[in-house]
Amino acid sequence: MADIKTVGVVGAGQMGVGIAHVCALAGYSVSLHDISRERIDAGVELAHKNLTRQVGRGIITADQMDGALARIAPAEGLAAIGATDLVIEAATENEELKKAIFKSLAPHLGTQTLLASNTSSISITRLASTTDRPERFIGLHFMNPVPLMKLVEIIRGIATDVDTYETASTFAKSLGKTTANAEDFPAFIVNRVLAPMINEAVYTLYEGVGTVDAIDTAMKLGANHPMGPLELGDFIGLDTVLAIMNVLHEGLADSKYRPCPLLVKYVEAGWLGKKAGRGFYDYRGEHPVPTR
Ligand code: NAD
Repeated sequence: MADIKTVGVVGAGQMGVGIAHVCALAGYSVSLHDISRERIDAGVELAHKNLTRQVGRGIITADQMDGALARIAPAEGLAAIGATDLVIEAATENEELKKAIFKSLAPHLGTQTLLASNTSSISITRLASTTDRPERFIGLHFMNPVPLMKLVEIIRGIATDVDTYETASTFAKSLGKTTANAEDFPAFIVNRVLAPMINEAVYTLYEGVGTVDAIDTAMKLGANHPMGPLELGDFIGLDTVLAIMNVLHEGLADSKYRPCPLLVKYVEAGWLGKKAGRGFYDYRGEHPVPTR
């Protein structure tokens, strides 16, 4: 098995920051990259805020926080990312964009570097096939928020070798996570089930069966879900939910996966959910207010 000591994270959004956070807390040295220095700095700032919250709740000590922050290095270029033992790509859910990232990483990669994608839905086999190392490429699908959620779904592409799989599983467990293996089919397990439920909740809203509040209350109290599906969609990011539905629709060619036009409209408006300040709820005031 490969020995992982350093991790490169590409994409400093909500997932990349969470991944950098848990890796640094577990003792890995992390390089964090995004398209601009501003985004990387905002990512480090968010990790700081989330770690501070964990200190406040007595989950970690102030020393652990300081140690973790000292292990997260901003990486403006891809050279520092390529020099790590394991690169985890956590950029926007878009196949062409992810392929372009792996292409630009290629000249910087060490011969033994393992590649992972945190994609929610895109074929690991297809992403791997655009790199020079499909045998050392794997899906490591963390859940949001990464510091809290226990699961990492592990997806092997057709060419992923046993060594890569064992290294990736051991790595995920070293972060205190539990792993579940999923075959490389559109959206794997979690989002094959979850994204259509959120999309169906949007249809329920679109068809006027219930308001945002009624739908979320019904599912929280009626199905014992900790969050309503519309709130959950906002939390994931509606652009990500739409991207997953498109992958399911195109990949499985079944009309039951067609994205709801209202979901498309919210994304077109830039109302992407919590990260944009507005989605099915408006988060800009003191309390979230339904937008429909
Ligand atoms: P996000 O919108 O919060 O962040 C995406 C980040 O990628 C942004 O900071 C953006 O600037 C960056 N990015 C875009 N192009 C880039 C490039 N060329 N190079 C480097 N960085 C680039 O999205 P997110 O929620 O963090 O999702 C990221 C990935 O994680 C997606 O593949 C998504 O499907 C997956 N994922 C999301 C969730 C979730 O609940 N949001 C859960 C599991 C997995």
